[in-house]
Amino acid sequence: MFTKILIANRGEIACRVAATARRLGIQTVAVYSEADAHAKHVAMCDEAVLIGPSAARDSYLKADVILAVALATGAQAIHPGYGFLSENAAFARSCETAGIVFIGPPASAIDAMGSKSAAKTLMEQADVPLVPGYHGERQDADFLHTQADSMGYPVLLKASAGGGGKGMRIVEKSADFKDALVSCKREAISSFGDDKVLVEKYLNRPRHIEIQVFADQQGECVYLFERDCSVQRRHQKVLEEAPAPGMSDQRRSAMGHAAVTAAKAVSYVGAGTVEFIVNQDGAFYFMEMNTRLQVEHPVTEMISGTDLVEWQLRVAAGEPLPLTQAQLQINGHAIEARIYAENPDKGFLPSIGILRHVRTPSAVTFTRNDNPDNNQPVAVRIDSGVREGDTISPFYDPMIAKLIVWGATRAEALARMAQALAEYQVVGVATNIAFLQRLIGSTAFSTADLDTGLIERNQEVLFPPTPVASLPVLALASAALLDAEQRTTNAANPWSATTGWRLNSVLQRAVTYANEAQHYALHIGYHRTHYTINTSANSAVIRIVAQKENDQTSGNAGKNFTLTLDGQTVRGTVVREADTFHIFTAGTHTTLVYTDPMAHAGEAEIEGGRLTAPMPGKIVAIHVRKGNTVEQGAPLLVMEAMKMEHTISAPGAGVIEEILFEVGDQVADGTQLLRLVAQ
Ligand code: ADP
Ligand code: ADP
Ligand code: MG
Repeated sequence: MFTKILIANRGEIACRVAATARRLGIQTVAVYSEADAHAKHVAMCDEAVLIGPSAARDSYLKADVILAVALATGAQAIHPGYGFLSENAAFARSCETAGIVFIGPPASAIDAMGSKSAAKTLMEQADVPLVPGYHGERQDADFLHTQADSMGYPVLLKASAGGGGKGMRIVEKSADFKDALVSCKREAISSFGDDKVLVEKYLNRPRHIEIQVFADQQGECVYLFERDCSVQRRHQKVLEEAPAPGMSDQRRSAMGHAAVTAAKAVSYVGAGTVEFIVNQDGAFYFMEMNTRLQVEHPVTEMISGTDLVEWQLRVAAGEPLPLTQAQLQINGHAIEARIYAENPDKGFLPSIGILRHVRTPSAVTFTRNDNPDNNQPVAVRIDSGVREGDTISPFYDPMIAKLIVWGATRAEALARMAQALAEYQVVGVATNIAFLQRLIGSTAFSTADLDTGLIERNQEVLFPPTPVASLPVLALASAALLDAEQRTTNAANPWSATTGWRLNSVLQRAVTYANEAQHYALHIGYHRTHYTINTSANSAVIRIVAQKENDQTSGNAGKNFTLTLDGQTVRGTVVREADTFHIFTAGTHTTLVYTDPMAHAGEAEIEGGRLTAPMPGKIVAIHVRKGNTVEQGAPLLVMEAMKMEHTISAPGAGVIEEILFEVGDQVADGTQLLRLVAQ
């Protein structure tokens, strides 16, 4: 076995690899870019070397620099993780030449599977079933058009060198073919430097089911069952699970054997995934092979009781596969959710910023009685490369964490996932957590009515309007508001003295909050032993039972409250950032912007993130002029960031006092864009 390896990656996968290496007593060398100087993966490794500026092409994609670091630090092998250099055959070859083990397949296998067209040709020869289509050498438009016409529409155009869901075009009818081909080729050349495309029959309501394979240098190859990754957005996986619901033993072994055949056809070594597209009737077709560890590998680890990174290290070091096919068994059910810094309501636009507050669900441990030696006795696992205080930057994939749960049955795993998502708190960036909660809770997912169009088909359930804040939420926000104001007057017992207290009458204080759903005008009554809260719809008596600083957090982030509302217990966490309150209770996250009528007397600026740039980008349109009166929600300007347009709208009604930038200006994250005076 190796004594020292270099991890040529960042984020959660670098941390994931480092954890197994440490358990096996292998020293680790991290590489990092300028943006990652204080990253978790750097802290987790024994040594760390700066390899260049933040952009991936100047650091994590610098094959020669990384190889030089490996040689200089005495690493015997390089683990490439996924993405970056993991499927770069030239890099695998340079490692070999330099006498360093590339922890992955031989360069020839990466080459063979790197082109989707060439891979399909190979699979055809090996009798692995293929989606009907054309994947040959001819690329002239008329010829490809005739091929598409003869297979019947819809068809899918794919960049042969594509990956990550990019470079694909669905063509609905013959008349659209030529335009789609031009645009697909344009994207293919710009994203992958190769404009070769293939044409496939576009399947109706298919499932994405992939098989994990593992091969050793002795020529053995096994499959570690399947993962269903049908729940996707823009051809990118969102939820992954194992085993695939509804899979029969017979079909599992047919797909497993097809995948092993595919791997053997290219003399595969190490971890690989053969992706199939599967019809609702169960017929399966080879799509592509990913010649690396996959993002979603933990669900396989959970149901098979294996550590696939350990397998990778052992196989790369020349050891035989730890288990035979007959020894591998499925135990229970696992689901993974990818938690992203992104805004599902705005087309999944990535969100950039500092993770001001992060609370993760508690790990649930259990001992598996079928396998007492199992090294992962957890039912809730979080793989993450970031911690509270870290930044989600525009340079890399905005994944915050992978949340993986195990249950004896799918229903148990689903329940555990729902619970874990409800406990996951993130403030500082937009996240897809609420979206994942709706997805997990949707009838389509919970009944396993799976296909790659699940999200599209369930738009109404998955993208509801912002819900109106409940009375418990408003009460929690108010408790935090009053607490902050009173901490200065009586630190020991802030609830005993109230700034609003008057001897003979009860002070009624007007408090106003707003979110995307509506404005909330309420009155807080200050009494000797309690507060009252009145909204236009409700009223209740609030008693503060307990409050405590959130021990996982520091600074101004996070306080836990227990209240009674007319005798009913309400628990929640409130995180305050200036006048924005984040209220976490009963598994929901509500954002409220507080407007203090006393302090601002109706003329102060509307606070809250919406008038600032949510990420670095360019101003591409301005819809208002100085002096305009705008309603709440009116579009004010449009920014372009990370190749997507993002509309900034008015958080409340007001008058535009000043516009601070012009169309074409580049602005930094958090920059104030304009001044809006509340009306
Ligand atoms: P998986 O098949 O494991 O779900 P993807 O194919 O979506 O994963 O991509 C795996 C990782 O590689 C992701 O982090 C993604 O951002 C990254 N990735 C995918 N394609 C590319 C590419 N062309 N260049 C760089 N990184 C990529
Ligand atoms: P990538 O390299 O980007 O992962 P894939 O070939 O694996 O590309 O396809 C990505 C996704 O696109 C699949 O998971 C599936 O949802 C969809 N897809 C691919 N081929 C087809 C097809 N022939 N019919 C319908 N959907 C497809
Ligand atoms: Mg794929």
